[in-house]
Amino acid sequence: MQKIQNYIGGELAEPASGDYLDNFEPATGEVYSLIPDSDERDVNAAAAAAKAAFPAWGATPPEERFEILMRLVSLIERDLESLAVAESVDNGKPVSLARSIDIPRAIANFRFYATAAMHTANESYDTSLPGGGKAINYTMRHPIGVAGCISPWNLPLYLFTWKIAPALAAGCTVVAKPSEVTPMTASMLSELCIEAGLPAGVLNIVHGTGPKVGFAIVAHKDIKAISFTGGTKTGEEIARTAAPMFKKLSLELGGKNPNIIFADCKYDDMLATTVRSSFSNQGEICLCGSRIFVERPLYDRFKNDFVKRVAALKVGDPADPATDVGAIVSKQHFDKIMSYIELAKTEGGTILTGGYALSEPPASTSGGGSLNGWFIEPTIIEGLKHDCRTNLEEIFGPVVTIMPFDTEEEALSYANCVRYGLSATVWTENLSRAHRVAASLESGIIWINCWLLRDLRTPFGGVKDSGIGREGGFEAIIFFTEEKNVCIKL
Ligand code: NDP
Repeated sequence: MQKIQNYIGGELAEPASGDYLDNFEPATGEVYSLIPDSDERDVNAAAAAAKAAFPAWGATPPEERFEILMRLVSLIERDLESLAVAESVDNGKPVSLARSIDIPRAIANFRFYATAAMHTANESYDTSLPGGGKAINYTMRHPIGVAGCISPWNLPLYLFTWKIAPALAAGCTVVAKPSEVTPMTASMLSELCIEAGLPAGVLNIVHGTGPKVGFAIVAHKDIKAISFTGGTKTGEEIARTAAPMFKKLSLELGGKNPNIIFADCKYDDMLATTVRSSFSNQGEICLCGSRIFVERPLYDRFKNDFVKRVAALKVGDPADPATDVGAIVSKQHFDKIMSYIELAKTEGGTILTGGYALSEPPASTSGGGSLNGWFIEPTIIEGLKHDCRTNLEEIFGPVVTIMPFDTEEEALSYANCVRYGLSATVWTENLSRAHRVAASLESGIIWINCWLLRDLRTPFGGVKDSGIGREGGFEAIIFFTEEKNVCIKL
């Protein structure tokens, strides 16, 4: 059975403990590889390697960093298919999604930041002095040193590289931990880094659990910035550890995103996109809309069509190109989602479609036989109050609620009543209303008449309990020191 290895100081390495954890394939529920059960000793070795590599990497001209990162881009492009298959097996997502979204976005992350590093400018101001004369005030930014990057399981290589690429491009060296639940593509990336000639110690990847490896990264004195994507509860723990050490922090946390659909929307576009924004990646995208508010005149039509479309989604083997919805990432997460469906029933919800685990295990297209993994039918629930637990807490699975509203104010009050503020989607052809509603929504990103369109030049991040700090948009990243202002009198 394949044993994944850590990547420390430019080499693949066993964990100090010599112990390994089981890695499950979600579609079969069976162990298919082993993950290093690393601990503080491995993090210390990785941090030492990153610290030693920093002076040279930080001083490497952006053009050279660009060349190395672009070599990595070519190698990921070359291996796109095998990475997509590995991501699908590891995570349970349809291979078509890994092929069209996850791996291409990992490529885009490296390409964007490699290029951005050569095009950053620092601001400078001419200052007039009282009584005549001039000074120039300008701002300098330096890479902060060793950065810690911790990512979740839902978009494994996409989110892992979104943290690593800007850090490396900025001139930082990195100690990174992918989710222990989906380590495979990060491990393949280690091998590509060696092949690309990334200098030893510039990127170090330590596999293992959050409480051991994640915590050791956050608490390490030589790791100066933490870029984290994951749950709000874990974010709280990280902030508690990092704050007294005055580390720079970016926390991309949970969401409970609203879709507000007005009766004047372009109906067909809205319907097709709402199916996608609800159930792509089994609903395991932090930006999926899980609360759907529909203007009352459109409600019945939407409900009927939405239920029909969703019931027709093909749930099954992630390896089958025709599959729309794959397996849930882990048994633990499967149980959590099912418990929320039960909760919704006790809160008075009516299940319009789905609501159960797949009754018949689907056949496997790749390995033969039946699949016995963790599959849940896409589920639509109505009849719940906007402020019940099902509508306030993050479920992070193929479960959405729908409810009608009468006024714009009512829709906004429903949308904003949660602790989260990650993203929101608005459907209307009324231009003034689109801007007015966007301005009043408490969300870090708002999509109008679309979903998941991202331009990496814009900073991304949630508000409220969905996080602090912004990622993306080169100036917004945390991998530089605090700006140093220089004032020179002419
Ligand atoms: P977790 O918070 O459980 O884990 C995220 C990462 O943190 C994992 O690598 C995990 O390791 C690690 N970790 C766990 N405990 C600690 C700790 N004490 N110290 C340091 N690191 C730790 O999230 P999930 O992996 O379950 O991901 C799902 C969550 O991520 C959802 O809430 C989702 O909304 C959010 N998310 C947010 C996004 C955003 O952009 N805002 C994007 C995507 C997801 P391990 O896996 O080994 O436990």
